[in-house]
Amino acid sequence: MISIGITYRTDLCRREIHTIEQFLDYIATEHPVVVDLVKSGRLDDTNSYRSYMYETRQHYSSDGWFIIGDAGDTVDPLYSHGLALISMQAQQVGEAIRREHKGEPIDEFVTDLDIAFTTMHRLATREITSLYEVMHDPLRCHLRMPLAILLMFRLAVPLIFNGYMWDPIGIKIQSFSEAKRHGSRSRPLEAADRCRRLGTAQPLGRQLSQGAVTVLPELRLL
Ligand SMILES: Cc1cc2nc3c(=O)[nH]c(=O)nc-3n(C[C@H](O)[C@H](O)[C@H](O)COP(=O)(O)OP(=O)(O)OC[C@H]3O[C@@H](n4cnc5c(N)ncnc54)[C@H](O)[C@@H]3O)c2cc1C
Repeated sequence: MISIGITYRTDLCRREIHTIEQFLDYIATEHPVVVDLVKSGRLDDTNSYRSYMYETRQHYSSDGWFIIGDAGDTVDPLYSHGLALISMQAQQVGEAIRREHKGEPIDEFVTDLDIAFTTMHRLATREITSLYEVMHDPLRCHLRMPLAILLMFRLAVPLIFNGYMWDPIGIKIQSFSEAKRHGSRSRPLEAADRCRRLGTAQPLGRQLSQGAVTVLPELRLL
């Protein structure tokens, strides 16, 4: 059994693809071999989803629960960096547990971890999804690559490998920069709470059950 799909931004690709016929019509223009593949087999099921990007409002709690991976946030399929994010979250959760086992108060630490992760996740997603806007233009697409690679491998990866994303000072810096970005002069923790509530503060889309997860109507809203 094989699953074949297409993901696109509706604001950039105006075409509607809801049926197998629409899918084959479109895919024939770019990848005719996929059409042959589909026609060579038996169709078992089809599905289409809109607005499937979601993010949880809170990832971690000092009550001792943690949401990591796809359960909390969608990752953009263009780069599929989900496992990279999960490995970072596992380190963050491990550090929170370790500190609690040592008897340290972790309320503030866990809140800062949450903000640091949300900031990193949104930054990566924004960078990746903006590629859709230039991918038809080889020159612009390629010009962006050196900068993206420079930031990723000369800045982000070394910082993460050195524990910046679960270091109390590292995540506090992110907490302050988030507070600054949202125009806050208040204490970082108050800003943290506001960041955490972003899902309700902004019209990000319809709410799923219990309102725990926000579905993002379009990627560019991230
Ligand atoms: C096609 C594709 C390619 C990808 N490529 C990459 C890549 O190259 N690099 C990268 O970093 N990431 C990649 N990703 C993303 C990455 O695979 C995911 O982000 C990651 O697997 C998510 O892990 P997870 O443990 O959160 O969720 P999952 O791996 O989805 O695990 C959830 C598990 O829970 C089970 N489950 C669901 N409901 C229930 C239930 N009610 N009861 C019991 N069990 C249940 C599911 O069967 C599943 O096994 C890719 C994703 C896709 C779809």
